[in-house]
Amino acid sequence: LKIAIVGAGWYGCHISLSLMQAGVDVTIYEKSNHTISGASKRNQNRLHLGFHYPRDHETRIQSKEGYDWFVEHYGHLTSIIPNNYYAVADEGSCIDGETFKIIMDGTDLSYKAVGSSSVIDKFKCLNNIIECEERVIKNNLASKYFDQILRDTVLFNEKIDLNDQTVLNELSGKYDYVVDCSWGVAKKINGIDYFFEPCIYFYYKNKLSEIFALTIMDGDFYSLYPYYDNIYTLTSVEHTPLARTDSYEDALSIVESTKSDENAIAQKRQLFEKGFSKFYPDFLREYEYVDVEFSIKTKIESSSDFRGCITKLDGNVISVFSGKIDTLHVAERKVFEIIGL
Ligand SMILES: Cc1cc2nc3c(=O)[nH]c(=O)nc-3n(C[C@H](O)[C@H](O)[C@H](O)COP(=O)(O)OP(=O)(O)OC[C@H]3O[C@@H](n4cnc5c(N)ncnc54)[C@H](O)[C@@H]3O)c2cc1C
Repeated sequence: LKIAIVGAGWYGCHISLSLMQAGVDVTIYEKSNHTISGASKRNQNRLHLGFHYPRDHETRIQSKEGYDWFVEHYGHLTSIIPNNYYAVADEGSCIDGETFKIIMDGTDLSYKAVGSSSVIDKFKCLNNIIECEERVIKNNLASKYFDQILRDTVLFNEKIDLNDQTVLNELSGKYDYVVDCSWGVAKKINGIDYFFEPCIYFYYKNKLSEIFALTIMDGDFYSLYPYYDNIYTLTSVEHTPLARTDSYEDALSIVESTKSDENAIAQKRQLFEKGFSKFYPDFLREYEYVDVEFSIKTKIESSSDFRGCITKLDGNVISVFSGKIDTLHVAERKVFEIIGL
């Protein structure tokens, strides 16, 4: 069996490795010059366990299964976060704190109830704070790992347009299947309603020695998450998206124009800092601004915020559509089912 993989993010790398272990002849086409260079590099890198998705059962189940699976397969590329808090905002949340906990109990997710923001005095305007397990995925270690282990399998600087019938015919002549792991970029995936979201977020340096993470639920709120050493990412559900586009090229040009617009970046940063300081008033005293980051998210239309993994077969092209990194096991299972392994 000969299979081409398009894209060397987490999905392309993992599916390639598992196919190679099953004896398949695999070639990866990656448009950049190393692995884990797209969204798999530029994201908050949280290894989800399910707490982030109170509105969607299937997403929580995939995350819960995926967490253990990921730790077993790639635990060496992650680290545990001590003092990992989720909390419900006193105002404006889509669900109340008791409901949040009932949903997590119903999914059999364990946590320690900490109380309200009067218990952890650095936080304000939060209730039903819980402490739970999660990990951060070390994307630079993952990139080095896959660059090394897949060095004879990846063709770098190879951009493949799967919407071009000539390219598709050529690949179909050479391979039994083409697995599109470009997150909806190399080919328009029929049957999935999705769009692109150019994103902005920021890095901050923690001046304290304590490591912790805070994710505020549920709706237009913030998440402060450890990244590397004492550098943290701050994301905002409300302010991180810069736009919503149907084409990846449009999303890319919005990222490029925002990158060169110092005023736009400064305004965004102010919104993030002002909004987050409401919940963590000493944030700017305890953290120092480091840098801005941009990324592009491919997002499925979903009223319940479904962020699981879907695959679609069209001819001999299998498209893999992820919502997060923790569902590699679902992608592997579905791809293997389709090709009959
Ligand atoms: C701001 C933000 C925060 C996020 N936070 C988290 C989080 O905390 N936890 C989590 O689990 N997930 C998070 N995600 C989602 C996560 O990043 C993605 O689900 C995941 O990285 C997708 O992996 P992938 O391999 O499918 O895609 P990618 O990592 O984007 O890989 C696709 C690869 O395909 C290549 N490619 C694209 N087009 C072509 C082409 N035409 N020819 C050849 N190669 C091509 C790209 O260069 C890239 O290397 C976040 C995403 C964003 C944007």
